[in-house]
Amino acid sequence: MIDTLLGGVTGVTAAYLVTGPRPALVDPGARTSAPVVREALAAAGLGPRDLRWIVLTHVHLDHCGATGILAAAFPEATVVVHRRGARHVAEPARLVAASAAVYGQRWSLYGGLDPTPAARIEVAEDDHRVAIGGGRVLRMIGTAGHARHHMSVLDEETGTVIAGDALGVRMEGGGLYPALPPSEIDLDAGDASLARIGSLGPARIVISHFGDAGDPAAAVDAARGQLVAVREAALASRASGDLEGEIARRLPLERVVGDAAALARWRRLGWAGANVAGVAGWLASEGDAAARQ
Ligand SMILES: [Zn+2]
Repeated sequence: MIDTLLGGVTGVTAAYLVTGPRPALVDPGARTSAPVVREALAAAGLGPRDLRWIVLTHVHLDHCGATGILAAAFPEATVVVHRRGARHVAEPARLVAASAAVYGQRWSLYGGLDPTPAARIEVAEDDHRVAIGGGRVLRMIGTAGHARHHMSVLDEETGTVIAGDALGVRMEGGGLYPALPPSEIDLDAGDASLARIGSLGPARIVISHFGDAGDPAAAVDAARGQLVAVREAALASRASGDLEGEIARRLPLERVVGDAAALARWRRLGWAGANVAGVAGWLASEGDAAARQ
């Protein structure tokens, strides 16, 4: 694990380096983190021609922003990303503009995304395999929910799932909390994805924010339960008109996240507000169907 020091703070966003004859870096982090990640790769003994893969769980800027800079610095590396993310990695202007609107005044934490030549991008479908060498394989698992193009990464050798944001966020010292930012969250797909991750029987689950998720089955169960609570909150807000309050009542950040340092990280990032906006978007587009069930 490499702490990408998002916003200069430890314990917020992690990249994962899978070592072997053809090493892979999963989620290089924000553009602002590129110098930190380059230093970490050098410290791990990787020269400019050594890194072979940059694997993206999804194209939110806290995960993918450093991709263009690192692809230039490591010319042998191929970028692996879901089909729906690939065009943004090659031509980031639209993604960057949309992200600036979501992040608002916190934009400077993230920075933008430099383009990667299309010839260096490999589109990953579900079950796509990334060969690390020596028989070690990373398997890409479609885990829509946090975003339609979200993928998790199964390291078949160790049974570790690098789950990106599929389970949500668990800062050091705190508890798990959903990650449901705009603009394309899907609560049904998210639940199915969590079930799929659980069905892999992972030995370990690691998440982008931040580190080991704890007992894998318990973490998956907790995340599924939280999505149920969010759905209930969203549907209840149709009557009350208070989505933020409905979510806060069922999943109070102070109690669920708990630890004061973890709570401070959440507040600094503004992700609770992003959740409300994301769920409001889901309610507008998908909630009608959910209400009829
Ligand atoms: Zn994230």
